[in-house]
Amino acid sequence: MSPDPASGDPIDYGRFDRGRGEDLNYWTLDPTLRFEARRVYPADEFEWAEEHLEAFGDAVAGPIAENAEEIDREGIGLDTYDRDGEVANRVRYPAGIEETERITYEEFGLTHDAFHAPPGREEPTSLLHPLTMQALLSFNDAGFVCPASMTVGAALVLERFDDGTNAETFRRLTSRDHDEHIEGAMFLTEKQGGSDVGANEVRAEPRADGAYELHGEKWFCSNVDAEGALALARTPDAPDGTAGLSLFVVPHTDADGEPNDLVVRRLKDKLGTIAVPTGEIVFEGATARLVGEEERGFRYMTEMLNYERLTNAMGAVGLVGRALLEAKIHAANREAFGETIQSFPLMRRDLVEMTVDYEAAAAFSYEAARQYLERNEAGDDSDAYRLMRLLVPVAKYKTARMAVETASYAMEVLGGNGYVRGFTTERLLRDAQVLPIWEGTSNVLSLDVLRVLGKEAAHEALIPHVRDLLDVEHPFVGSVAADVEERFAELQEALMTLATEDEDYAQYHAKRLADLLFDVVTAAVLVSEAEWAIEAEGDGRKALVAEAFVRSRFGDDTAYGVTSGDRSGMERFDAVARYASVDPESLVEAAPADD
Ligand SMILES: Cc1cc2nc3c(=O)[nH]c(=O)nc-3n(C[C@H](O)[C@H](O)[C@H](O)COP(=O)(O)OP(=O)(O)OC[C@H]3O[C@@H](n4cnc5c(N)ncnc54)[C@H](O)[C@@H]3O)c2cc1C
Repeated sequence: MSPDPASGDPIDYGRFDRGRGEDLNYWTLDPTLRFEARRVYPADEFEWAEEHLEAFGDAVAGPIAENAEEIDREGIGLDTYDRDGEVANRVRYPAGIEETERITYEEFGLTHDAFHAPPGREEPTSLLHPLTMQALLSFNDAGFVCPASMTVGAALVLERFDDGTNAETFRRLTSRDHDEHIEGAMFLTEKQGGSDVGANEVRAEPRADGAYELHGEKWFCSNVDAEGALALARTPDAPDGTAGLSLFVVPHTDADGEPNDLVVRRLKDKLGTIAVPTGEIVFEGATARLVGEEERGFRYMTEMLNYERLTNAMGAVGLVGRALLEAKIHAANREAFGETIQSFPLMRRDLVEMTVDYEAAAAFSYEAARQYLERNEAGDDSDAYRLMRLLVPVAKYKTARMAVETASYAMEVLGGNGYVRGFTTERLLRDAQVLPIWEGTSNVLSLDVLRVLGKEAAHEALIPHVRDLLDVEHPFVGSVAADVEERFAELQEALMTLATEDEDYAQYHAKRLADLLFDVVTAAVLVSEAEWAIEAEGDGRKALVAEAFVRSRFGDDTAYGVTSGDRSGMERFDAVARYASVDPESLVEAAPADD
């Protein structure tokens, strides 16, 4: 059951006593996610997808939620050896994971539908569909999002670059049949090289039968027992650095189900994402099959990395959505000093600011996804490619940090309970903490932004794009857009400065550039969304969100706002935090709050 999404009334979070269960659906209860999907899905596809996303929203809040809690509580085990001392590499899972996999891959076709036409369609879906499903999945199981997204990512690489050698792996990665379906993984990191992938040393020796044998160690292997794992390794006489890396499919077992020649030495004893077994592997001549051509592995892997970084952002969005939901439900029910805590001005401000941040994270991530989809159509010599290359690392960096921040504050909104197992926020915070680390740390992603600006001249695509987004007509939205202009000009100046300064200076400021880029692009996307929502849906709520975001990032900060007279978070609580619709006429009458 869920509130009528079209009613426009404020959502009554007090109806729920926790953020999961039969009475709650993450899709229908989340207007932010629905709005972004409506805007970015290809129109005909959204018509098909909506009912599937609604049904999936139910499944994630129901059985998948229960399984996620069980898996987190019980953990995953490993038997490296069997009772006779033979290598077994057997990962022991709690029972719930099987049901979660069956629901996700078989019932809802998470990896199948983007590669083969699902029932009811003549074509596969766009990649936005698995991305949106992963955001929903992350409301409950940020750990399981990892294997799910690596399965799509591995299939993408094989679809694009494999010459048929690994056709059976591709078929099984994208199968809807649970008994046939296998998962993907990506084994890059070695002890001496995580961010520095070019330092990889694992060797690949060619065999007479066309396969290769891998030797050496990988230090962090999530989904360690995946049958469709991809690994980077160096062939004999290959050059140093990333240029000498080749990509291989390295299955966990052979055709008879016997372990491949590798030892899973141990699983990492992790803070969170317990649903995914992350292990250390020692390759002892493991059979591997080349993907595409030798020494092009890093380029192929970049394709997977782009997708993984985007799913990391989508996963962060889902996790923030859940943290916020828990906070809002608690604030609507908990009484202190004789009133529910959501009625206090300071709590209203907290919840409004968290909602605005959530909308910002979702808007930027979906914009990055939109460019990613457009690039898949337009190719690598397009503005969409340049925008995708620029926006994806920024989306990953910023949303991951926002997820940690929001999960932490949601825990505080729940008070002492928030810190205790069983109240979900502690799991969310543990799960969130890995989001900034894997798939590239904040620093590494910010340096990637510099690289894209230098190599691809991505700013030449960015500046006209932001200008287009800010080109709006509605008077209220126009006044918000005008408030972005100054920072937009500063961004252009910053891009010029870093292009002309020395490398050390550029690196020193790289993260602040990514921060500025995120704020300006997000503001512009929210402005454009606000105009669209007024025109297409007759709702002025998004305009208030855009205005709040712009004020929070670019507003007059004199005395930290204490002398500004601003009361907007109190007055707009229902509209922003509880998603009540807003008559666009009322925006024209009301001057922006900080005027
Ligand atoms: C739970 C978990 C699961 C993982 N799963 C996988 C997996 O499945 N496959 C896989 O390949 N890897 C995996 N990883 C590894 C992860 O991707 C790496 O840990 C990560 O990329 C960082 O690499 P590192 O640990 O070697 O740290 P380092 O590269 O040594 O970085 C340490 C610090 O130095 C900073 N730094 C590095 N270079 C620079 C620079 N040039 N300028 C400024 N700062 C810099 C980084 O930002 C970071 O803060 C996993 C990690 C975790 C925690």
